Amino acid sequence: MTYYPANYHTHCLYCDGKSTLEEHVREAEKQGLLQLGFSSHAPVPFENKFAISEEDLPEYIREIDRLKSQTDVCLLKALECDFIPGMTVDFADRKSVNGLDYVIGGVHLVRPPHGDGLWFIDGPKQEIYDNGLRELFDNNVKLAVTTFWEQTFEMLETQKMDIIAHFDKIKMHNRNRFFTEDESWYKILADKAIRLIKRHDVIVEVNTRGLYKKRSDSFYPSTELLMKARKADIPVLISSDAHQAEELTLFMPEAAAELQRCGYDHTAWFDVEKGRFVY
Ligand SMILES: [Zn+2]
Ligand SMILES: [Zn+2]
Repeated sequence: MTYYPANYHTHCLYCDGKSTLEEHVREAEKQGLLQLGFSSHAPVPFENKFAISEEDLPEYIREIDRLKSQTDVCLLKALECDFIPGMTVDFADRKSVNGLDYVIGGVHLVRPPHGDGLWFIDGPKQEIYDNGLRELFDNNVKLAVTTFWEQTFEMLETQKMDIIAHFDKIKMHNRNRFFTEDESWYKILADKAIRLIKRHDVIVEVNTRGLYKKRSDSFYPSTELLMKARKADIPVLISSDAHQAEELTLFMPEAAAELQRCGYDHTAWFDVEKGRFVY
């Protein structure tokens, strides 16, 4: 198993990261990465502390361009775009308007089918997950989790993205308390996501953040889903979803070993001349 020395999923001070763009670049040089992609959380249309603002976006792009002349690491411009039905900007528009190299799509905020509010399934706090489950879904776990997956399906069917972020993150705060990944209704939903990922030519990332933050006992996605992705011949890459420079390559060798166990022998990488990922 050879994996391309790169990280395409990183956050910095422009969004909820703790390091500057330059600190990430210096760390990438130290770690011997050939490519480094910046993927701040794209703006969302409400008050928040995690996403880059529309006003800061041009400077984020300019700063990445400036840093390119100061390093041998190939720097790439991207955003991690949230998909919230009826609320977020079309991914393809984000990509073209801001001259991005690629887009990562992900669901962090789940919109209940009827009613207001957003269920935040990410972040460090389990009680926020639990509160949302109670207040927005009346503790109907099956409905809540199904809504997460359906929002993921809608994203895959209506948005153009290069990579899908941590596509089974819904398991993170669950920790086998409300459901297990072995339950057939859950498997049916996850399997459908894999079919759509294949149909729409999207790359799956093996995201290591859950492990080094100790919020998950497995990668996103879990082993069984990675095996199914391999069977469907879906390309993969490894990312640490680093929110600070020190996290840039954490658990990447372990992720490579996991991919090897699942039958993969290489990862995707960004071909600058072609302007897209190849695998
Ligand atoms: Zn994310
Ligand atoms: Zn991220």
